Amino acid sequence: MCIFCKIINGEIPSQTILEDENFLAFNDINPSKKVHILVIPKEHYDSFDVIPPKIMASMTEFIQKLVSKVGIKNSGYRLITNIGVDGGQEVKHLHFHVLGGEKVGKMVS
Ligand code: 5GP
Ligand code: ZN
Repeated sequence: MCIFCKIINGEIPSQTILEDENFLAFNDINPSKKVHILVIPKEHYDSFDVIPPKIMASMTEFIQKLVSKVGIKNSGYRLITNIGVDGGQEVKHLHFHVLGGEKVGKMVS
């Protein structure tokens, strides 16, 4: 089982920020910005590349709710999802990084 599936079933502790029946948002263990939240579907998909578009639509709604809740909707934020080897994906369970709470910078390295 992948580490994010273990977070979903409680085997690995995490700080939950928002949760519903399909998605979970929790703090990244190694934050690169003041706000660094990971958003994952509870069902395992290896990456964005294989998520059914209908589930992605619900995930969009969930992320929009999340950024309101944590107060970065108006100040702005960056969403990143890394895909595969060239995309630099380390954990093979689809996740969006939500970065904000300060200026994120022009480029993603
Ligand atoms: P990737 O490089 O796959 O896009 O990002 C993986 C992210 O997961 C990294 O930012 C890393 O800090 C985070 N991460 C890895 N293991 C854990 C963990 O056990 N708990 C939490 N909260 N975050 C993790
Ligand atoms: Zn998983």
